Amino acid sequence: MKTILTGDRPTGKLHLGHYVGSLRERVRLQNSGEFDKIFIMIADAQALTDNADNPEKVRENVLNVALDYLAVGLDPTKSTLFIQSQVAELFELTAYYLNVVTVSRLERNPTVKNEIAMRGFETSIPAGFLCYPVSQAADITAFDANIVPVGEDQIPMLEQTREIVRKINEIYGEVLVEPDILLPQNQVCRRLPGIDGKAKMSKSLGNCIYLSDDSATVAAKIKEMYTDPLHIKVSDPGHVEGNVVFTYLDAFCNDKETVAEMKEHYQRGGLGDVKVKKFLQEVLEEVLTPIRKRRAEYESQPDEVLKILKDGTTAAREKAAEVLARLKGAMKINYFG
Ligand code: ATP
Ligand code: MG
Repeated sequence: MKTILTGDRPTGKLHLGHYVGSLRERVRLQNSGEFDKIFIMIADAQALTDNADNPEKVRENVLNVALDYLAVGLDPTKSTLFIQSQVAELFELTAYYLNVVTVSRLERNPTVKNEIAMRGFETSIPAGFLCYPVSQAADITAFDANIVPVGEDQIPMLEQTREIVRKINEIYGEVLVEPDILLPQNQVCRRLPGIDGKAKMSKSLGNCIYLSDDSATVAAKIKEMYTDPLHIKVSDPGHVEGNVVFTYLDAFCNDKETVAEMKEHYQRGGLGDVKVKKFLQEVLEEVLTPIRKRRAEYESQPDEVLKILKDGTTAAREKAAEVLARLKGAMKINYFG
């Protein structure tokens, strides 16, 4: 069996980083016909670990993320789209996994460390937030997933999941499947920077181009995009490393030859930012136009979207219950048969 599990936190609409880091890959894998099962999860319970005081935000973005999924071409007849909080089995699994993880191991997770700093949680880390990598291990293993297509920030989560799987299997016998991470081939897609060129594009940092942004918004964001501060006059030689416009061209433009020529011209001097930005805008419009169109179609039928999620959640629950029963059997806590 080849099974995929992956997902997103409903903390905002999905952006270009999600697209190149994970969504584009998911759609490709979905349509490759190579997978027996594909589970795509809206991680609302995980979103609540650092948004407990903002339930409206999480609720509203469950629908937004679902619309983004359908917009990029995830197909509910091929992929199971579901909502994490409605699969109670995941929380039971998490509870048992927590027993094989130490607090110091949780505190060492570099992605979580970084997120704690970004959120200013240093002196008041919600326990649920510190433990979310364990709940992610439950999400992955509950579906016997062996492939997890994600961006680079998820490497420590997958490592932690694999450790938990090995530990559980060591104690209770071969009950869980050990998953592999699948990162995008293209290096720049593993961690797309934000339009400010500083951190990774992230919903929580407000440096995003959203899949649902209209043309004018995208144009305005490209206009303010970070380039090369030393490239003042058009005739000046410019730098392409760290220049977000070129990074995005590397991530989105299929015409690699043209991008290589533009980079060479820019470095030599004589190519202005305005021209490169205009080209990027054309490239992004080509990517975003069909996505916007499909999004609009589904936006007009919210009941249909809710039904897709409901049916997906029912199917996900069935599978998770099977895995949970297997584990509880191995743990000798199946008293009533
Ligand atoms: P938040 O700020 O709430 O954590 P986020 O923007 O980081 O949101 P997530 O829902 O945490 O998004 O991530 C979902 C998936 O998208 C993960 O697989 C993650 O690796 C990937 N991803 C997120 N941002 C990027 C990015 N800038 N480049 C590549 N992949 C990304
Ligand atoms: Mg994140």
